[in-house]
Amino acid sequence: MNDDTTGTVESADVRDVSDAFAVLGDETRVAVLEALVEARREGPEQRALTFSELRERTGVTDSGRFNYHLGKLRGRFVEETDEGYVLTYAGREVVGAILGGTYDTDVQLEPEPLDDPCPMCDTELVARFDDGDLDVTCENDHTVLRTSVTPGAATDRSMHELLSLATRRTYARIELLAGGICPECSGRVDREIGEPDVDVQVEYSYETSCERCGAFTRSSAGAAVLRDQTFIAFCDAHDIDIADRLPWTLPFLTDGETVQTGEDPPRYRVRVEADDERLDLTLDERGVVVDTERTTS
Ligand SMILES: [Zn+2]
Ligand SMILES: [Zn+2]
Repeated sequence: MNDDTTGTVESADVRDVSDAFAVLGDETRVAVLEALVEARREGPEQRALTFSELRERTGVTDSGRFNYHLGKLRGRFVEETDEGYVLTYAGREVVGAILGGTYDTDVQLEPEPLDDPCPMCDTELVARFDDGDLDVTCENDHTVLRTSVTPGAATDRSMHELLSLATRRTYARIELLAGGICPECSGRVDREIGEPDVDVQVEYSYETSCERCGAFTRSSAGAAVLRDQTFIAFCDAHDIDIADRLPWTLPFLTDGETVQTGEDPPRYRVRVEADDERLDLTLDERGVVVDTERTTS
């Protein structure tokens, strides 16, 4: 593909996106989307509203003016069904982002010291949340978690609840990433296990990058096994509640329990230990679990 063609495709995409946002630059139209969400909350089975119900709920008296605004949303964010108007996929996504506080830029929580020490240097860990960025670090700049959480989630949660939410979201994202799917845009994701080229205190990292939107993640190689069925069964057998376990309290995610065991093709072994049992999971170069072995010591 030559540069000209690429340029043309990109400017058409950008125009579509800016048209879509321009449509939402009006209070009445946003009120229409919110009224449809309210209807869905009241009765998930009867989520459609007729033209006049919708007009009453948004408080617009002039039916011609209301029709004009509804027309701007129709086809893109709302659609007309036999029962009335409902949100389209794009409408549901945009309302989800508004309610989640994606566009709020002033949500902060007080930094909070945590009970578990830094796994690298044993000093105190502190959690910080600022406008959607959630970090857990120690005084020696070891970062054990860096992720984003929609600001709306922080308005009615404590730091500990936010960390629990972020952990579950991280695990859900790993599930998609391990399947080669981007959690942001559903594009295809390249995955790679290897030695990180920056100093991140782990010997082997699991890196993913999206071909479509460029979203990039880096974690320790151990993260690749978090949604593996054998690993989950092992945790279950040892009463480890993996869904609620904060990542830096899992030794195989933070210290050198991952080693390279083969070069051609590359193979890596993640070791998980609990009680008197051990689970070795072998990963290929994309972080796919290709072999497991459970032994009692
Ligand atoms: Zn530290
Ligand atoms: Zn993507």
